[in-house]
Amino acid sequence: MSDATITEPDAKTLQSAPEISIVIPVYNEAQNLPLLFERLCAVVDRMGRPCEVVFTDDGSKDNSLEILKGFVTKRPDIIRVVEFDRNYGQHMAVMAGFETARGEIIVTLDADLQNPPEEIPKLVAEIDAGHDVVGSYRRNRQDSVFRTLPSRIVNLVRERITGIKMRDQGCMLRAYRRSIVRIIVESGETSTFIPAMAQFYAERPSEVEVEHAARHAGVSNYNLYKLIRLNFDLMTGFSLVPLQLFTMVGMVVSGASLLLVVYMLLRRLFIGPEAEGIFTLFTILFFLLGVVITGLGIVGEYVGRIYQQIRARARFRIRAIHEKR
Ligand code: UDP
Ligand code: MG
Repeated sequence: MSDATITEPDAKTLQSAPEISIVIPVYNEAQNLPLLFERLCAVVDRMGRPCEVVFTDDGSKDNSLEILKGFVTKRPDIIRVVEFDRNYGQHMAVMAGFETARGEIIVTLDADLQNPPEEIPKLVAEIDAGHDVVGSYRRNRQDSVFRTLPSRIVNLVRERITGIKMRDQGCMLRAYRRSIVRIIVESGETSTFIPAMAQFYAERPSEVEVEHAARHAGVSNYNLYKLIRLNFDLMTGFSLVPLQLFTMVGMVVSGASLLLVVYMLLRRLFIGPEAEGIFTLFTILFFLLGVVITGLGIVGEYVGRIYQQIRARARFRIRAIHEKR
């Protein structure tokens, strides 16, 4: 624990639980944190409602944690920092923030200033208006076409496969009522996609348009591989359609193969044996082999997640919570 935890509490921090908790996952964001802090503080002070900001340091390799601890000292009335023992990924970092948050309204956003903190009151207002989950979509998304095009395709496929309606699944600037956050935390899921789970449980969801900026500094933590993994989490976590689709493909291929067998049998009887067409045979064989391996992979995606979940290991380990009590 940091020394901030053992100092005497002052009157300001002894006040009752905050109304609004802002949860922010942080992984190697040292260059973005100072400006984020400044803008956040301004927003929080302007809102004039009891707020807390819960940062989760997701095992950063730069000095993000030191900077965050500095924030606790600067603004002990609002800042709390959850320290992970290593990197568990963005969604687990948010999950730990959820566990720690005390507010009735919980807002998530990214640490890289792609989601302007100034939009928080807009989301909070939607919750105040009676919604339990408030999503957002980015007005003019400031990412390269290599990020926007795949995510457009993924949004489409996800909606078809999982039936979860979200205009922009990649935008993490979202607000939730405590009841929704509680269900998410209690699910105990390890490989999950938080906005989708919230949308799944939401009774009165709503979406607002928000601004989007280019990353303030540094580069995205997601490469193509990580993005594919994340989307598998989303697909397998909310739908059996990939498996079912595969069964269907299997049935169609089996039916077609059966027709081919009948044809070959008749040909053998009435025309005689055929020796040519070896490469045609290989082509068909390779194709079918590809289908089988893909199927095995899809089954594996589910089995792996079942295995992970069934061992019931801790989803993450919190080394310390830095706050001024
Ligand atoms: N993040 C995290 N753990 C990780 C990767 C990312 O906590 O393993 C945080 C990161 O610090 C940022 C947010 O998740 O606050 C979104 O990450 P990033 O900006 O890299 O993703 P993108 O905006 O490109 O989707
Ligand atoms: Mg980002």
